[in-house]
Amino acid sequence: MPPPSDPKPPAAPKPPAAAKQAAKQAAKAKRCPICGQPATEATHPFCSPRCRDVDLNRWLSGSYVIPARDDEPDDVD
Ligand SMILES: [Zn+2]
Repeated sequence: MPPPSDPKPPAAPKPPAAAKQAAKQAAKAKRCPICGQPATEATHPFCSPRCRDVDLNRWLSGSYVIPARDDEPDDVD
């Protein structure tokens, strides 16, 4: 049995499903609003738990506009 005259090169190795999925997510991934890095699924929409905490602290510190609440303090004018 003679060898093929035009042997094809071995097929390019397919990327692991995880890497393929990660690349797919990276393409549409939103960027972290804190530092601009691509967000991860685990900490969406932030890139890391750290940035998630930063955002939370901003909320708690009142940097964001918070809608009026019913339970206003008594010292309101
Ligand atoms: Zn970040």
